[in-house]
Amino acid sequence: MIISREQKGKIRSLRNLAYAVLIPLYFGLPWLRWNGHPFIRLDIPERKFYLLGNIFIPMEGYFLWLFLIGAGLSLFFFTSLVGRVWCGWACPQTVFTDTFDWIGRKIAGKKYGKKDAPLYKKVLIHVSWIGFALLGSLAWIAYFADPYIMISEIQSGTVFAKGNLWPYFTAFFTFTFYGDMAFVREQFCKYACPYARFQTVLMDDQSYNVTYDYVRGEPRRKGKEKIGDCIACNMCVVVCPTGIDIRDGVQIGCIACGKCVDACTPIMAREDKESLIRYMAQDQVENREAKVKWVRPRTALYAILLLGVLTSATYLLYNRVPLYVSILPDRNIQPMVIPENKVRNFYNVKLQNISLEDQNLQVQLVSKDFSEEPILRVGGDETQTIQLPQNSMLDLRIIVESGNLSKEDIANRSHFIMIRFVDPKNPKFYKEKQVPFTLPADLMGMR
Ligand code: SF4
Ligand code: SF4
Repeated sequence: MIISREQKGKIRSLRNLAYAVLIPLYFGLPWLRWNGHPFIRLDIPERKFYLLGNIFIPMEGYFLWLFLIGAGLSLFFFTSLVGRVWCGWACPQTVFTDTFDWIGRKIAGKKYGKKDAPLYKKVLIHVSWIGFALLGSLAWIAYFADPYIMISEIQSGTVFAKGNLWPYFTAFFTFTFYGDMAFVREQFCKYACPYARFQTVLMDDQSYNVTYDYVRGEPRRKGKEKIGDCIACNMCVVVCPTGIDIRDGVQIGCIACGKCVDACTPIMAREDKESLIRYMAQDQVENREAKVKWVRPRTALYAILLLGVLTSATYLLYNRVPLYVSILPDRNIQPMVIPENKVRNFYNVKLQNISLEDQNLQVQLVSKDFSEEPILRVGGDETQTIQLPQNSMLDLRIIVESGNLSKEDIANRSHFIMIRFVDPKNPKFYKEKQVPFTLPADLMGMR
């Protein structure tokens, strides 16, 4: 694991500003409420995902696909424009590496990361890291479990009650988080992160990225001989959190954190020259007058695809009806013949209100199959209106009774009916399902 040297500078200050927004967001989001419900949470036992006052269920998995495709395309788009901006500025691996370094420096000062640092400071650093890892893990678990309940369980001492799994997950993630930050760090970026593997193919000579100006810099100084501008001070290497030498060109290990830019800037400033490492396109190294081409076939293609995904997601969200309906023929009560040559079918219905508002639903039957219109009963009653409180489920039985069946109705072997649940105040708010209407075998003999 590498502990890189601290480096102050313009990019460091800007990244600190980004962290000042991101770290409170990572830790604070699970605590926010929206109409008494989580602002964001993946509730695995209940199989619900809460986001911005909406509830999504596994049956709406297409939203997850759209999100993943959109996130992937955003990564493609921004990487082709400005390199690995995600890695250097927002990835939790980078943000927390810097946070752990900050803790280490607060405790050991200039001795941080040195072999001759006092033992008690080394121990204190690791204890503080474990404490921070515990806080980070609790924050992470709070995206899956209610943090207010977690706190009350801690206060009441019921944390380890039977069936309560979150303390064990917290312990596991604390161990993983601490292990990552204390012993793995840049090895994860270099060898485990899949994004690092393919980021080089997403960039081209026009990507605006942290780049070494080899035209000016090379040949770098050797001994006392100086030809190019690089004085071979190696500051860009010692500050690099992944331990690479950017002068060797674009590499998997470069997370575009910009520390080498901050390192080279004051060194070149002493000679009244611009930094040899800065944000620029590779093309600008060869041709200093060249302008960055932001619109190129690659960036345009990613932008169009991303726009397509965003438009589809917006359309689906706008037209989304937050009601889940499942209707199955009741296996326990077979279709039956009743007097006057009528037939009854029974259905099991599951309704789930996946919104944070109560729903009043009317049940309607749509049938074009029969010579006489069937009638529908909900739960045995004539009532056809259902109250469905917010974020709730309801099981009910629906009975559909045919009219007087004609010979043609009976001769026609397969019948289907449509059962619709609609909000009478908003006819656009409806869900419907087509289900078979079965004629019993003894009736079929009447053909
Ligand atoms: S910091 Fe600048 S001058 Fe020093 S080695 Fe790196 S590129 Fe060369
Ligand atoms: S080469 Fe520069 S930008 Fe890349 S990881 Fe190292 S310090 Fe950061």
